[in-house]
Amino acid sequence: MGEMVIREEVRRLPAYRFTPHAQPVKLDQNEAPDDAPELARAVAERVASAALNRYPPLHPVDLERALAERHGWPAEGVVTANGSNVLIQALAIAAGIGRSVLTVAPTFAVYAAQARVLGAELVEVPLGPGFSLPEAPLTRALEARSGVAFLADPAAPTGNALDPAGLARLARAAHASGRWLTVIDEAYAEFAGLDHDDLARELDSVVRLRTFSKAAGLAGARLGYALASPDVAVHLRKVLLPFCVGSVQVPAGLAGLARPALAAARLATVRAERARLAAALERLPGVAVFPSVTNFLLFRVDDPERVHSGLLERGVVVRRQDHLPGLGGCLRVTVGLPGENDAFLAALEGVLAVEAARG
Ligand code: PMP
Repeated sequence: MGEMVIREEVRRLPAYRFTPHAQPVKLDQNEAPDDAPELARAVAERVASAALNRYPPLHPVDLERALAERHGWPAEGVVTANGSNVLIQALAIAAGIGRSVLTVAPTFAVYAAQARVLGAELVEVPLGPGFSLPEAPLTRALEARSGVAFLADPAAPTGNALDPAGLARLARAAHASGRWLTVIDEAYAEFAGLDHDDLARELDSVVRLRTFSKAAGLAGARLGYALASPDVAVHLRKVLLPFCVGSVQVPAGLAGLARPALAAARLATVRAERARLAAALERLPGVAVFPSVTNFLLFRVDDPERVHSGLLERGVVVRRQDHLPGLGGCLRVTVGLPGENDAFLAALEGVLAVEAARG
């Protein structure tokens, strides 16, 4: 096969970094820690009576209506897809190709990867001190360009909340230019109790992204949605492939939305465990833990490679982040069930004791 059969941009791109591990304590993908069996049963019942030989509806109107109700958002502005990743791609296609994709670094890897694959100009602005929003350089980058800006708030993989006033000023500047779509990725918003509903109502160039993969506990279903102005939603639907939300995903989403108590209980547990885990990490010598409003904690150690593999040897999987700009020494741990968090802490203490003895 000739080298040139694949576009240069794609050949140059490294693959998405993810190594699966079989260890029992899985704290590497920011998933919900519990698999609610009643959700799976409800989905199985709906799927059992579905005609799987038939295509699903072109757009899952029942689900989009339920989401509209949940958010008090016009149903014409709710756009669902098989994962919010897919919406990131669709937004980059709709507003980025031949123009620019603006984001911060470090952040969720998919924004930059899609910009590269699609051949859009990629502008990455380093985060400010304490992983803060670099408002001034971002605002300057808007000038003389057009495109789509992606900002995760809460920020990932750093876990902090961005300054809402700064973000609002930036989105207003982008809006005033008439050339920029501002996408606020709210994948972890439930854990923080924050959202950008007011800003999105004020500015129809602001699109919010949501996922069922985190607080809703349905990462396996692959379901995400955008809350956009109806005008933007019309175009976004054109970019998405037809029938991209299937007959298994829709019942999963509806079953999740019908059980708010399940999600509320999970949120309460994750928040309490996050505080306990952060306090325990803070007490460990040689560990620096960063503030988080999400379901994960970023922490810094002297030797992230050794700590990561030492944890694996003890049955615990966390995610390395030390390859990212500004995150030297950093690992990321998902807040799990209390027993998993205990197992992680015990394993980490064990690894650090070995490291200390090594000198
Ligand atoms: N945005 C952010 C910030 C994320 O961390 C993730 C998941 N890792 C996603 C989007 C993708 O979510 P989904 O599973 O809906 O594709």
